[in-house]
Amino acid sequence: MVRRLLSTWIAISLTQCNHVYCFKSIIPFNRSLHFKRCCTFTSIRKTTTMTATSSPSTTPRKLVLVGGGHAHVQVLKSLHKFIRPSNLSVTLIDAQSDASYSGMVPGCVSKLYTPDETLIRLKPLTTWAGIEFVQGTVVDVNLDSKVLNVKKEGGEDEVEFDVVCFDIGSTSRGLVDTIGALEYTIPTRPISNLITRIEEAEILLRQSGEKDANVVVVGGGAAGIELALAMRARWNDLGDVSVTLLDSGTELVPSENKRCRQALLSVLDDHDITIQHSSMVSHITSSHIHLQNEKVLPYTHCIWAAGASSHDLADVTMRKRGLAVDDRGWIAVNESLQSISHPFVFAAGDCATMVGLPKGKSSPPKAGVYAVRSGPILIENLTKMIGSLDDNSEANNKLTQYEPQGDFLKLIMCGDGTALGFRFGLPLRGKWVWHLKDKIDTMFMELFAKENLPDIKEGEAYDTSQYDAIVNRPKPLEVEEAGRLLMRTDDEVEYEQAWNVLRDMMADDDYQKHVLKLIEMSQGE
Ligand SMILES: Cc1cc2nc3c(=O)[nH]c(=O)nc-3n(C[C@H](O)[C@H](O)[C@H](O)COP(=O)(O)OP(=O)(O)OC[C@H]3O[C@@H](n4cnc5c(N)ncnc54)[C@H](O)[C@@H]3O)c2cc1C
Repeated sequence: MVRRLLSTWIAISLTQCNHVYCFKSIIPFNRSLHFKRCCTFTSIRKTTTMTATSSPSTTPRKLVLVGGGHAHVQVLKSLHKFIRPSNLSVTLIDAQSDASYSGMVPGCVSKLYTPDETLIRLKPLTTWAGIEFVQGTVVDVNLDSKVLNVKKEGGEDEVEFDVVCFDIGSTSRGLVDTIGALEYTIPTRPISNLITRIEEAEILLRQSGEKDANVVVVGGGAAGIELALAMRARWNDLGDVSVTLLDSGTELVPSENKRCRQALLSVLDDHDITIQHSSMVSHITSSHIHLQNEKVLPYTHCIWAAGASSHDLADVTMRKRGLAVDDRGWIAVNESLQSISHPFVFAAGDCATMVGLPKGKSSPPKAGVYAVRSGPILIENLTKMIGSLDDNSEANNKLTQYEPQGDFLKLIMCGDGTALGFRFGLPLRGKWVWHLKDKIDTMFMELFAKENLPDIKEGEAYDTSQYDAIVNRPKPLEVEEAGRLLMRTDDEVEYEQAWNVLRDMMADDDYQKHVLKLIEMSQGE
């Protein structure tokens, strides 16, 4: 009985994540396990009412979520007080009142979005869900007494937990260790400060009457590339603005094929962005960037986008407390996102690293898309873990494993109303790619907007129809037409139609093969 109720509860939680599975990827709707699950759960939803009063246990349980990152916002939404067992209280602790959605931040830097549009408001979301929100920074954790120390305005607090989960993201790599970086550059972390710092720099620049600027972006990863394009777009109306991208490697996006790499170079060239490879920063002064290869670059504005590094909370404090962290300070979790040293600790997103993966696979890279994808697994495993405390069962054997997707649709916004995408080894370019990116990102954000939070009444089933996947796509285009469509860059392409082609290719290997072959032939390869 307990198990049946719990699985229904999990089912409801998972059902609401259909769109999240679609985030930044083309989901094989008619083949994926996730979809089958969601279908099953959707039908469960229609026949079952799970309410808080259904919970058979009366022992109070405490789940604490540290950090309102991309995975945890989904957990918050799934644990509404009328859905979760009545003995379970949930607390979210975050240093900030709003979570920044990084996928839209470069668009905001380009002025395509307002800063407001990039934020998930944690307070309304937690209030809606009946979850306690503590605005503060977790500075320590006692794993024996299960207590977190939280630094808040006006003092420190202790927060107890039965199960705790961390989704605290990362910090900017090299920012503290590189002389001058902290003092003179605008770092990408915390990401909410990035926009404010750029806005402040712009106000000063415009007030000074200066029309020229020399922008240097340190970091040739996706974030650095997008920010270079974003700064070009943002200061397009000024005078002579140079934008330089410093890359420590020998080529950008090395994991993509030659065709995609060339497409990126062409985009950067079109936007007059200079790339300097093999450029490791040695130190920075107020006016110059000194590279390890002895080169010196003058600059007026420097954005530090050199990659992700772990928080001291994990690397130093929790390591000292005995929690398993790897040599770079990431919290070591198994395939179920559960700490390998403490079963009641979970972690997801940038702050976690998956260890002991089969076939020597490595943990996924630090990207928001993986944090988002781990959300539904986290919902399932946290609920199972809590449930196991109540029925005294071994949760570990029942936890669901997270299998990070190997490849996904990568989208780079260009700041000018177009975007560049990579999928199936194909470069995709044009306004339609931007519209696709905008759609995927805004769809994700809409899940958490206050006005979209459903009105759940006590004792009523959770109507999850708003999250149901749209599975009825039109018949796939003929192979020739599909291939031609994906290669188009003109403004007339309808993004929905191209998106459907990408989904059809994902869903049907043969179709994919034929479309790719057709494109190859048409390009004389
Ligand atoms: C400019 C830029 C653009 C990017 N674009 C993309 C993209 O398009 N696609 C993509 O896949 N990835 C992108 N990324 C990478 C992406 O931002 C990260 O991988 C993603 O944010 C990680 O999400 P997360 O859930 O791990 O943590 P985050 O989203 O960073 O959230 C962590 C939360 O934890 C809170 N927190 C931290 N420490 C504590 C503490 N001690 N106590 C309490 N709260 C704490 C923070 O306030 C924050 O709200 C981009 C990164 C940058 C910098």
